[in-house]
Amino acid sequence: MDNTYQVLGIMRGTTVDGPGFRTSIYLAGCSHACPGCHNPQSWNPEGGSPMTLEEIMEIVREEDFDVTLSGGDPLFNPESTRILIHALKNDGRNVWVYTGFTIEEIEADATLSEAVSEADAIVEGPFIAALRDPDLLFRGSSNQRIIKKNF
Ligand code: SF4
Repeated sequence: MDNTYQVLGIMRGTTVDGPGFRTSIYLAGCSHACPGCHNPQSWNPEGGSPMTLEEIMEIVREEDFDVTLSGGDPLFNPESTRILIHALKNDGRNVWVYTGFTIEEIEADATLSEAVSEADAIVEGPFIAALRDPDLLFRGSSNQRIIKKNF
């Protein structure tokens, strides 16, 4: 059975969600409710449009870009995200994942850890409006950390 994803949008050629030109996939659903969130509409897990894994991969394959998963929070649906990351890695993509969970929360939860086990980097932690810094590379607030591999 193919997996279905609620996709808020797919942006090709973005340079703000990780290094180089990337295809960013925005997945619906988030439970963090960060005050000052730039996109509260993304919290609804039924938002966006349903897409199968193969439909997403077809769009990704139209470009040579690496891929970023964002949202919402891709770890709202950890099992689906694990499968998507696996497909992207099989396709030779470098994969970054944005999540409102901290690395400590991910490491303490086997399902979350497994979901990102094949990702190349995660940008972790909730957005904290008081720590917002527009000069930060690839992050919204200074509490957020970019963690590469082996997490
Ligand atoms: S994790 Fe991201 S999408 Fe979710 S509430 Fe926080 S800023 Fe918004």
